[in-house]
Amino acid sequence: PLYGRVALVTGSTRGIGFGIAEALAAAGCRVVLNGRGEEGRQAEDRFARGQARYVAADLREPRAAHALLAACQVEFGAVDILVNNAGIQHVAPVEAFPDDRWEEIIALNLTAAFRAARSALPGMRRRGFGRIINIASVHGLVASEGKSAYVAAKHGLVGLTKAIALETANDGITCNAICPGWVRTDLVEAQVERIAATGGLTMEDAAAELLRAKQPMRRFSTPEGIGSLVVFLCGEAAATVTGAALTMDGGWVSV
Ligand code: NAD
Repeated sequence: PLYGRVALVTGSTRGIGFGIAEALAAAGCRVVLNGRGEEGRQAEDRFARGQARYVAADLREPRAAHALLAACQVEFGAVDILVNNAGIQHVAPVEAFPDDRWEEIIALNLTAAFRAARSALPGMRRRGFGRIINIASVHGLVASEGKSAYVAAKHGLVGLTKAIALETANDGITCNAICPGWVRTDLVEAQVERIAATGGLTMEDAAAELLRAKQPMRRFSTPEGIGSLVVFLCGEAAATVTGAALTMDGGWVSV
């Protein structure tokens, strides 16, 4: 259904971003993969020949998002679908939260999404079609202890989503946020390891403990599931879905 569209998925060398890139490719898109440094070169090989290109960019850097969008133009001529997925986490109480970790979480999880959208929008307007999908989190809607920078950035990302949706409402462009609960990726594995270490638990018991603490449904959401939701949002059937924050969270924010 998305045949011929070009999609950029930031932070797509692994985890949720990789799942989204796979789903978009399966739907017919050509995909630009992104990550920091050379770590993503092999990700390209997991797609059909010519369907994916890896472009390295450290999106914490002020000019990186604009350069990444420019590289997409060179590779594939246009960006029809922008998925702002790259994100990092750091867990510490506010009083002990280091300045540099705060700065880089805001830079990557929020500011890079703004900059990528700013660079993508002129082309989308010219072509009269665009989809911007921001991978926020349940932490874009509710808070958890120890995650002040992440919660602030993700709430900001949900706000940015609404602002872009208003400015593009009649231009064939939609902008939405997806708010996942727990997905078992490297980002969450670090938190499972911490629970296992402090509680003297096995990794499986620690993962169960992590789910039990916050999420009514005791199972993880998957990169494939999030990828399917992204494909839906990119289709004609979702043309009037804009400014939304769609949860995929096992009931987390219903509590
Ligand atoms: P992950 O750590 O598995 O993958 C992160 C990706 O971002 C990787 O491809 C990495 O290369 C890339 N990345 C990291 N720093 C970067 C930088 N400076 N510049 C460019 N790319 C960079 O994480 P994930 O769990 O797949 O998370 C993806 C997104 O989903 C994040 O925005 C995260 O906040 C969000 N999210 C994750 C969960 C979860 O439970 N895993 C839940 C809700 C939201």
